Formats: sequence, structure tokens, C-alpha cells
Amino acid sequence: MKVLVAVKRVIDYNVKVRVKSDCSDVDLANTKMALNPFCEIAVEEAIRLKEKGVATEVVVVSIGDKACQEQIRTALALGADRGIQVETDQAVDSLSVAKLLKAVVAEEQPQLVILGKQSIDSDNNQTGQMLAALTAMPQATFASELTVADGKATVTREVDGGLQTLELTLPAVVTTDLRLNEPRYASLPNIMKAKRKPLDVKTPDALGVALKNNVKTLKVEPPAERQGGIVVASVDELVEKLKNEAKVIG
Ligand code: AMP
Repeated sequence: MKVLVAVKRVIDYNVKVRVKSDCSDVDLANTKMALNPFCEIAVEEAIRLKEKGVATEVVVVSIGDKACQEQIRTALALGADRGIQVETDQAVDSLSVAKLLKAVVAEEQPQLVILGKQSIDSDNNQTGQMLAALTAMPQATFASELTVADGKATVTREVDGGLQTLELTLPAVVTTDLRLNEPRYASLPNIMKAKRKPLDVKTPDALGVALKNNVKTLKVEPPAERQGGIVVASVDELVEKLKNEAKVIG
């Protein structure tokens, strides 16, 4: 069984995000970039399926400029077998990503496609759902447990008020939640080995997808500065301030 994993290059989650002075976007100049954490979980899950003998090949795909090859190599160092970069310098919205992934799915014919539930930079939480719709594959989002056997994927999802378990007929799309697994670290020998693993570069044109951005970012603003706190001397003073200054109690 072939597993396709979609991975995105995003700003490292440890970095304090800066907004450009003209508020047009986040400033990525000289910023540490990394594999989107939910994509790292997706890669880990695919590798575990291979280690269990369920998957035979793990292919990772990333859409972006040449720099995203770094994240593909990271996934290869974690244990994926080969990578595909769909090269574009344009900012692509979720629908464009889903259309490109659909074209890759048509070429690769994976039995399972695993994506992160969300990119931590754009927080869209859309691509997996759109890919499932475009390819007419069944989907299970926010997976916290996944087993694959007899042409079916059984997925446990964290939903409001408890856990829901779904059975999907393969081929299917699964998106990962935080508790699905704890990704491993790549060892130095595996980082070296990853440099020699195959990485194909394709263009949207070659995949037959004309990129059209339907979503335009109008403005990006940093969150309001937090006010400093104060220490009150007594409960009476606290109640008085909540009533008369913050006006949150009557
Ligand atoms: P989003 O819908 O943008 O929140 O992203 C959800 C998931 O879609 C990510 O965790 C990735 O698995 C996948 N994805 C989004 N953008 C890209 C991209 N440029 N290249 C590859 N995969 C992507």
C-alpha cells in the first residue's frame, strides 16, 4: 500500500512572528522555517504504517518554492522513501493546493493520503477536506488513532463530548490531530541518507493545473499589546475593581 503525505514549510512554531511594517503579511525575512507540526505527525504515522508492514512506500509531497525541498528532505530523513516538490513561487490558497494534490494523487494512486489537520501559519484547516471533495475519496479529519487493514482505515477522532470512530473504505484521506503520535527525531545517519533519496520536481503546468488565487490577504495585524497586570491587596479591592473598573460584574 502506498501512502502519500502532504507536507508544508511554515514558520517554526518557536519563532515570535513579526508583521511587515506595511501590514501586508508576516515578515519571513531571516526567519527559521520548519515542517508544519501536524505534517510531521502525518509523516510519523505513515512511517509507523510502513514499519508495521501495512504500507510499502511512503511518498511526501510539498508545494512551494525551492526552499520547501528542505522540509521534504526532513521527511525523508524521518523515514519517507521519496519526495515530490510541486514548484511554484506564487502564494497558493488551499483550493489550489488541493487541486495540485489531486493531480499528484491521480499520478501516484496512493491508497491513503495523510495531511495535517491545519497549517500553523495560515490556520486554514481546509486542504484535506477540499482534496477529499475533489477526488471523491472518503475522509476522516482530526485523527487521534489510525489503523489500516483489509482495505479499510479505522479512524478515531476527537469530537466535542468524546471520541468518534469511523471506518473508511480505501483510498481515503485522513488529517492528523495532535494526539495521533509523537514524532521521532531524525538521526544523523538518516539525515545523510536522506540526501540521496529521490526527489522529483514537477510544475503545476505539467500537472495540468492552472493556478488561480481566489483568496487575497488584505491586511495582517499583530495582536494588541497586552496590558500589564496589577496586584490587589484584598478580595474587597478585587471585587471593587471588577465592578467599577473592569465592569465585568454587577
Ligand atoms: P491548511 O488547509 O492550509 O490548514 O493545511 C492543512 C494541511 O494541508 C497541511 O498540514 C498539509 O498537510 C497540507 N498542505 C497545505 N498547504 C500545503 C503545501 N503548500 N504543500 C503541501 N501540503 C500542504
